[in-house]
Amino acid sequence: MLGRAAQLNAIASVNVRANIRAGAKPNAGRALDGWAVAVKANLATDWAATSCASRALGAYRSPFAATAVARLERVGAAVVATTNMDEFAMGSRTAAGLHGAAFNPARAGHSPGGSSGGSAAAVAAGLCRAALGSDTGGSVRLPAAWCGVVGFKPTYGRVSRHGLVAYASSLDAVGVLARSVADARAVYAAIAAPDPRDMTCMSPGLRRRIDALAAARPWLAAAAEPDGRPLAGIRIGVPREFWVDELSPAALDAWRGGAARLAALGCDVVAVSLPSTRHALPAYYTLALAEASSNLARYDGIRFGARAPAAAAAAVARHGRLANASLKYAATRSAMLGSEVQRRILLGTYVMGAAAAEHYYRPSQRIRRLVQRELDAVFALPNALAASAPLPLDARPPGRVDALLLPTATDTAPPQCAPDDECPVASYVNDVMTVAANLAGVPAISVPAPPKGDGDMPLGLQLVAQYGDDDLLLRIARGLE
Ligand code: GLN
Repeated sequence: MLGRAAQLNAIASVNVRANIRAGAKPNAGRALDGWAVAVKANLATDWAATSCASRALGAYRSPFAATAVARLERVGAAVVATTNMDEFAMGSRTAAGLHGAAFNPARAGHSPGGSSGGSAAAVAAGLCRAALGSDTGGSVRLPAAWCGVVGFKPTYGRVSRHGLVAYASSLDAVGVLARSVADARAVYAAIAAPDPRDMTCMSPGLRRRIDALAAARPWLAAAAEPDGRPLAGIRIGVPREFWVDELSPAALDAWRGGAARLAALGCDVVAVSLPSTRHALPAYYTLALAEASSNLARYDGIRFGARAPAAAAAAVARHGRLANASLKYAATRSAMLGSEVQRRILLGTYVMGAAAAEHYYRPSQRIRRLVQRELDAVFALPNALAASAPLPLDARPPGRVDALLLPTATDTAPPQCAPDDECPVASYVNDVMTVAANLAGVPAISVPAPPKGDGDMPLGLQLVAQYGDDDLLLRIARGLE
């Protein structure tokens, strides 16, 4: 087991104390008693470095545990390890960070996906029962799909991000990786709660408002009738714009199979249109990078993060005329941040500059609103955040759907490669299926698609629902597994 774990390189650090507790007898009645769980290395624990797989934070020890981590422990889970990831959660391969490349348990030499690749690989290999990851643009769902496990990104704000190192704050969500939807739901139930330490975490009032809206859907009451079709009454939309050129035959096949399975379970499956989808990826890579450049400004070796030795500053000095303090910053950031992180800071800073903001940042904000509005126009459940108070409905408006079905990734996991061997844009394209859910803040889940033949690499089917509709999403996902 240990040899296999070492080959996968899924684990960043092991919690020796927790191992002892994991072996202990389950304590009566707590929801996750006896569960061994792992958490991505960008979530603070009080026993390991919150490394974010970066040299800048390789030795950083948080004085507190993230709220999500503390909540897991409170209901009996043993947090046994932190997991490998792309540096600062920027990437889709888990190839480039401080801890080295991680690998996919489904096939030797292949990427587990990213950026929560260590969490997905650890769950898939049975090193733990479930794991936490973070999902800014798909980082829980993509590795879940490639490793053949369930990956759930709850609605933005459902789970506290206190103690999660920020990448792009308006998109970041703590998510769950598990072997089944039931396990993912159990972990989610333990961590989804209000938190005064995170002002973006949903208030109790908003949670109640969502529950009231979600409960007032008479057409879903029919779904509960035991007619042998457990999802009768639910309507699923298949968004045609996600049928992109990059989609492999295997992914298309899985998508068709998923639609057929939902129909067999009683769902009404219809085509829907989300025209702004094609702009979602460039908008994501503008907004995420802009926010990242601002969030990562703190790793200057003075306020936060490791500092480069004086000799490095002297080396930078040879390249140009910089003031003394700027030299220290430049030397530290050149030495302590990887090339992808540096690229993103540069691009993010650029798109927020006075002139470029008009061409990139502002249009991307507009696209984000369009994506949100188009989703509001296809979902039957009103958006609880809508400016005018949404009213409960008597009947599902014609043409509206309860959830969307689409692939999680365009293809199966590729071979792992050295970070600089892949063109960055090619790697950004991996996220074309997942970023819209982050832009809109809506919940999304990836469930493994059934393999067609022996030895097939895993693929994921993705379900997306309206803002706050996490429970319905999990219910439909259960039918799909
Ligand atoms: N691959 C995407 C990116 O690099 C998503 C990352 C994430 O969700 N953390 O930005």
